[in-house]
Amino acid sequence: MSDGDDPKNLKPGTRVVEAGRRKEWTGSVVNPPVWRASTHLYTDSKDLAKGRPNEDGHFYYGRRGAPTQWALAEALTELEPGAAGTMLYPSGVAAIANVLLAILEPGDVLLVTDNAYEPTRNIALGMLKQYGIEARPFDPLDHAAYEAAFCDKTRAVMIESPGSLTMEVCDVPFLAGLARDKCAISVLDNTWATALGFPALERGCDISVMSLTKHVGGHSDLMMGSATAGKELYTKLRRASQHMGQVVSPDDASLALRGLRTLSVRLEKSTASAREVAQWLSEQPEVSHVLCPMLPQSGGHDIWSRDFTGGCGLFSFVLKGGRPDDRARFIDALELFGIGYSWGGFESLVIPFDPGRARSVTPWPPQGWNSDDRLGIRLSIGLEDPADLIADLGQAFAAMGSA
Ligand SMILES: *Cc1c(COP(=O)(O)O)cnc(C)c1O
Repeated sequence: MSDGDDPKNLKPGTRVVEAGRRKEWTGSVVNPPVWRASTHLYTDSKDLAKGRPNEDGHFYYGRRGAPTQWALAEALTELEPGAAGTMLYPSGVAAIANVLLAILEPGDVLLVTDNAYEPTRNIALGMLKQYGIEARPFDPLDHAAYEAAFCDKTRAVMIESPGSLTMEVCDVPFLAGLARDKCAISVLDNTWATALGFPALERGCDISVMSLTKHVGGHSDLMMGSATAGKELYTKLRRASQHMGQVVSPDDASLALRGLRTLSVRLEKSTASAREVAQWLSEQPEVSHVLCPMLPQSGGHDIWSRDFTGGCGLFSFVLKGGRPDDRARFIDALELFGIGYSWGGFESLVIPFDPGRARSVTPWPPQGWNSDDRLGIRLSIGLEDPADLIADLGQAFAAMGSA
């Protein structure tokens, strides 16, 4: 497949339109058709006896995919400078679990960022234990403690930036660079930024994982995950994926490709709207903290400006006062925000969060905050007009206050 290098040096917004659209896969239409196939038919016994090379882009059997899945994988590879290939998985969690199982062995130690997506923590601190792998959470903003956490058994580090829910932006080039110095593999959960907002391999990471369920799908109607890497690790991921029987449906791959084509404009729009909504929230008396890296006054903005080439619609804020009933009244009064997990769709969503139970070495509320400032709310800003979203949030604050 493509090696991720682009001789024409096209801009990401153009590559997102062009990527993966090989003529041999699309035929004379724009998109690759949905190849629903378990079986590939051989022409005769001689053809069968020849066997098939275990290479990307060759028919063999449905578990190795067909042009619909190959086109999606190749498109994601082309979007990630420095990548050699992409594996697809039936969900983002499946991608994370499969990557960790592919690169870790009994006796290894995994460093996992303390603000990781909760199922990532659960895999690392729970399931991996039964394979004799020890996971140690680290504070992604404490570089001295991170460096001290390495031992001669540290095989990999799992990074996420911004962190789930609490949105800390860490210095990924530093964390990944130190991992490389210590001969450990760095894995980044790049779901928030995607390769458009954070070229992970170029910034020093070894494997970039995404939940395609979020931004790439973009329409809240499919689940999928991906892992993109350079040649050596891609080969390893591919072998493990074949052992574990990972395959995605061609219908879902086709939907993901459709989502991918508008990724760049959707991210630009939701980033601009999120900035506007976050700025407005930071001026409201009911709000104690806005956790939005795109906002100049938010923590992590400096590193975000230095390392990221884009944002998205996902950020959090914290209510003043610490009364859970207030938060529930606020959320229930919202009309344009659906209450639900996931994010990155065309429609806005809201979810309350209390990260304390999912943290080991970073306190919540953080040091220096009022102890009442602990009720989190996460927003996923969609493609609605931000003025309507702000009006909706305003009436929900009024409903919260009038009880
Ligand atoms: C949702 C999410 C995942 C998991 O993806 P699924 O497709 O829901 O399994 C992984 N990482 C992050 C940061 C997420 O938000």
